Amino acid sequence: VNSRIHFEEAKINDLEARCRTQGVPLTLQRRVIMEDLAGRYDHPTADQVYEAVITRYPGISRSTVYRVLETFVQLGAAQKISNPEAKARFDADTSRHHHLVCHSCDQVADFSSDDLDRITLPPEIGNGFMVADYSLTVTGTCAGCRTIDASSSYHGRTGTRHLTKRRRA
Ligand SMILES: [Zn+2]
Ligand SMILES: [Zn+2]
Repeated sequence: VNSRIHFEEAKINDLEARCRTQGVPLTLQRRVIMEDLAGRYDHPTADQVYEAVITRYPGISRSTVYRVLETFVQLGAAQKISNPEAKARFDADTSRHHHLVCHSCDQVADFSSDDLDRITLPPEIGNGFMVADYSLTVTGTCAGCRTIDASSSYHGRTGTRHLTKRRRA
């Protein structure tokens, strides 16, 4: 928890610096949205950030949250994670790390691997594509959903909660 508070502070300072060098004002809205994004591990969608921020910043609009998150990506202060769902997920951690995406509950978690970070990609991939960076998205079933699966098959039926979530995806 403590390190997350340091991370939040560092991200605000980083955002301040990026805004300054790129001539973008660090508005209160931008600050509040970064505080939320940097304080969570769940790689939220823009809607999830909006739902969290509206309690602290009443009157902020959903489209503002969407726009600010895109600005963070443009400033290099956050990254957008590719996701099997159509919805983009946002991550304040822009250092190289990889993601685990659960098919059942849509949860996105971080993982790191020295082996994966050391992969040497060919200098040219595809037809003249120049590589800037890479990350891996691993899809599967998280520990929580595996427990639900196991207990549902024990009872001889599929968990309804599980099914509902899957249908939404
Ligand atoms: Zn899951
Ligand atoms: Zn991440």
